[in-house]
Amino acid sequence: MSQKKHILLLTTGGTIASMPGGDGLQPSDSGVFQREMEQLRTYYDITVRELMTLDSSNIRPAEWQLIAQGIWENRQGFDGIVVSHGTDTMGYTASAVTFMLPNIDIPVVFTGSQLPLIDMLSDGPDNLRTAFAMAAAGHNGIFLAFDRKVMLGCRAVKVRASGFSAFESINARYTALVSNAGLSVDEMMLPVHTGQPALRTDISDEVFLLKLTPGISPKIFDALMEMGYKGIVIEAFGLGGINILGEGLGAIRRCLDKGINVVVTSQCLYDSANLGVYQVGVKLLELGVIQGRDMTSEAAMTKLMWAIGQGLDNQQIADLFAQNLAGEVTV
Ligand code: ASP
Repeated sequence: MSQKKHILLLTTGGTIASMPGGDGLQPSDSGVFQREMEQLRTYYDITVRELMTLDSSNIRPAEWQLIAQGIWENRQGFDGIVVSHGTDTMGYTASAVTFMLPNIDIPVVFTGSQLPLIDMLSDGPDNLRTAFAMAAAGHNGIFLAFDRKVMLGCRAVKVRASGFSAFESINARYTALVSNAGLSVDEMMLPVHTGQPALRTDISDEVFLLKLTPGISPKIFDALMEMGYKGIVIEAFGLGGINILGEGLGAIRRCLDKGINVVVTSQCLYDSANLGVYQVGVKLLELGVIQGRDMTSEAAMTKLMWAIGQGLDNQQIADLFAQNLAGEVTV
């Protein structure tokens, strides 16, 4: 009987699976993984299933649902699942899937590459190996593996457009690192499971991510309200400030009065927003906005999209943002 772990590779497209076409790189089918999988079969029993063949710029919430469903339906009978994905929006997908699959009872590891697998110098083989090692390591949760580092999916941000060290774990230590000692897992950085696993894919696409700029017109908030948005994530300045000298506060108050959920994060990548420090943040808190604290914009967006999609009311959404569901926030 085989002692090898049985790992499922779900493919979705991205550079890792791409071939040069007439107008640039285009994802091809899962056949491109064959040569690499033959090598990895020395260590694992591998099944490959193709979910889609998309550049991740073309991945939308409907595809997040398909990916979460694919993981859910396939999770029994495997020791772990690797999901190959384009790097450009992988942080969003890994976050959204984290919320859609609370208490997931199998290791799920997203990965991709900056150079296609068919390129002799591709970073894909290395990234796949790290992802397979993490998927076989027995720690349940949604992770992202890249450049010999493993992080929580809900903390991953793409920080480089072309460099091989494309992803960082923001405001949280890495879950695992590869060194000459092998894969070293930091047990403190594993997600804490609080209940039964579930598939909850309902999600709203009526959430807008707004980056404040000096002098931005407050009319943008009224426009978003008129467009029917149900949630706005504001990337505010520094610790979470907004220009309070103009009409901005009044416009945000109108949004809140209309029942729109407003979450405030920082446009700084590192450290936590804290609206209680400066007057320009306290004024926002007094209005009743939700603090995004140290969440990435990807996690704040997808958590709000998911919370609204789940049919929660404003108070329930505020309560949810005060909770750490899967390692996405420090509360
Ligand atoms: N455009 C590609 C994608 O996100 C980039 C990559 O995979 O690295 O699908």
